[in-house]
Amino acid sequence: MSEQELAGRMIRVRDEVAEAAEKCGRSASDVQVVAVSKLHPAADIRTVHEQAGQLDFGENYVQEATAKQDELSGLDLRWHFIGGLQSNKAKYVAGRFALVHSVDSAKLAAMLDKKARSLGVVQDILLQVNIAGEEQKSGVAEDGLNRLADEVAAMDGLRMQGLMTMPPFFNDPERARPVFAELRRLRERLSARMGLGLPHLSMGMTGDFVPAVEEGATLVRIGTRIFGARPQK
Ligand SMILES: *Cc1c(COP(=O)(O)O)cnc(C)c1O
Repeated sequence: MSEQELAGRMIRVRDEVAEAAEKCGRSASDVQVVAVSKLHPAADIRTVHEQAGQLDFGENYVQEATAKQDELSGLDLRWHFIGGLQSNKAKYVAGRFALVHSVDSAKLAAMLDKKARSLGVVQDILLQVNIAGEEQKSGVAEDGLNRLADEVAAMDGLRMQGLMTMPPFFNDPERARPVFAELRRLRERLSARMGLGLPHLSMGMTGDFVPAVEEGATLVRIGTRIFGARPQK
């Protein structure tokens, strides 16, 4: 793919997300696209940043992500950690990402908190919820969410900004809609219960970002639609 084509795809995706927002009466500025660059080279990130003005990028793998951060350290980017994270790797993530989307256990939260406090920073995080109850998926089960949120709220090094989910893969994106609606209900319930703002809902990917925006997404995580098919890891 040429640099020009890549930049054009980025701009088109942002336009489509903005259009989906406005069609349902939301402001386009309320929904940010996180460009998911995992397994794609740092050069593609640079192109999308310099030629399409993209600031937010999502990565899944700690080593790959931190190598790209080092390579692109001259650029003013907002990095999002969106992948499954083992608690023993939390120390490489805290303080290096604007937002960690995938906090799903008290153990992981505690390790992020510890590292953030040692750096003297507050790490913004989302709690990842496994709404469909798929066994192999990461995310806290719905019935464990209140407890995890209470534990995280007591950690001075973390600031809870909302919820994230990843529905099962469906050929028909409409089938993901109830999952997105449920995440929004959970956010509202949690927000009321804790008296916290919880501004963010991270939901929607290449195949299902339109229903996600319609159900209230503030962050959509889009990879393939921008960068093309991912090379194998
Ligand atoms: C890879 C990934 C995405 C992007 O998926 P696409 O279908 O390529 O848009 C979004 N969220 C998470 C958590 C991912 O791992």
